[in-house]
Amino acid sequence: MGPVKPNHSGRWLWAAVVAAGLGLIVTSVTGRSEILQDLLAWASLGLAVIAIVLFTNEQSQREEDRLQGEGRLKLLQEDLERQRQNVDALGEGMDVAILVCDERATISYANRAAKEMFRTQDPAGRSLLAITLNYDLEQLALLAGRDRTEQNAELTFAYPTDRVGLAKAWSVESLPGRVFVTVVEITDLRRLERVRTDFVSNVSHELRTPLTLIRAMAETLLDDKGKDKELFERYLGKVIEEVDRLSGITSDLLTLSSAESNPVRKAPCDVVEVFSNVVNQFQSKAAEKELELTFEGPEHLVIEANTAQMTQVAINLVDNAINYTQAGSVKVSVSASEDEAMVTVADTGIGIPSDHHQRVFERFYRVDRGRSRTLGGTGLGLSIVKNIVESHGGEITVESALNRGSTFTVKLPLGASISEG
Ligand code: ADP
Repeated sequence: MGPVKPNHSGRWLWAAVVAAGLGLIVTSVTGRSEILQDLLAWASLGLAVIAIVLFTNEQSQREEDRLQGEGRLKLLQEDLERQRQNVDALGEGMDVAILVCDERATISYANRAAKEMFRTQDPAGRSLLAITLNYDLEQLALLAGRDRTEQNAELTFAYPTDRVGLAKAWSVESLPGRVFVTVVEITDLRRLERVRTDFVSNVSHELRTPLTLIRAMAETLLDDKGKDKELFERYLGKVIEEVDRLSGITSDLLTLSSAESNPVRKAPCDVVEVFSNVVNQFQSKAAEKELELTFEGPEHLVIEANTAQMTQVAINLVDNAINYTQAGSVKVSVSASEDEAMVTVADTGIGIPSDHHQRVFERFYRVDRGRSRTLGGTGLGLSIVKNIVESHGGEITVESALNRGSTFTVKLPLGASISEG
């Protein structure tokens, strides 16, 4: 708004009245000279007219100023409303939970993310503790309000689900009695960190075992200086076994890492061809254990997939089925429904207890560590399979009962290009 102008209009009105009055008085006093009388009358009239014109001018100027003031006020109000809408849109659109409370931690505003995070419809007027069921968060807000300091903490929320969040509470000098609280959810981040540390410690453990064995055997052979020929041959054979295990682990780790990090390059892939080829490759291994290894399916089933990765899935599943079956059969079958391809690998082997069904897909998880080790397993086969299947938009499940065999089922979306023969 511009500077306020002084109000002179009353003065001009008075000037007009005084000029007119003065004219009348002078006219009556100088009644004897007609010329003088006329001159004075005209002069007073002129003065009065000028004063009236000035008065009218000022009136219209004031009216103009008033209208301008009202216009500016309206603009300011509109601007204020736009800013409020911006803040609302920002608050509602952000994935960070934002809460505004008073100094006693009573909520006056909560954005969409906060309502979703704490599953509440209308938290305004309720206490922060009642909404979040988190005592530490309430203390953070109370402290920020009381000490006028910024408070930060990593908090664990148990309600409505287990979550980890980075909470911050602060207040602003110019807005007394108000405390702002934000919570950034970092549950996934912390989970990934845990997976990473578990993975590193698992890898170290897996590598250390064969390395320790190799070192112990090498030392024994060195001490013996080749005197015991039978020990020499046996230990060297074991060293080769452990080295093979190490290279198995490293190659599985590389496969897993490439399956996790590289985007899947898909092309038309005949799953029938992939699985029947792998079944053929494993015939001699199955025959060694006198197992019946069969394949059944249509002539072709083409889906959008990465053929190399599908071959890896087939190898890992068929290899496991043979490894963990002492007698009976391994049956691989491929079929298609309207929108997905289904592959099952069923064996009559040792089976998996039900409480291990989900865990067998975790990296390095084995039901029986000793047995897996004897069979040359790395504990990574099924996690590689799960990773590849899921990166193709599919899923893998297992049905199994102890000593009655296992059936692994892979379902894959057919994708754009499909032909069944
Ligand atoms: P491994 O290299 O030990 O076979 P995998 O990741 O392939 O590792 O499998 C994880 C664990 O799941 C195995 O150690 C084994 O205990 C169990 N398992 C996998 N396939 C079968 C199966 N067909 N029958 C019984 N147990 C199985």
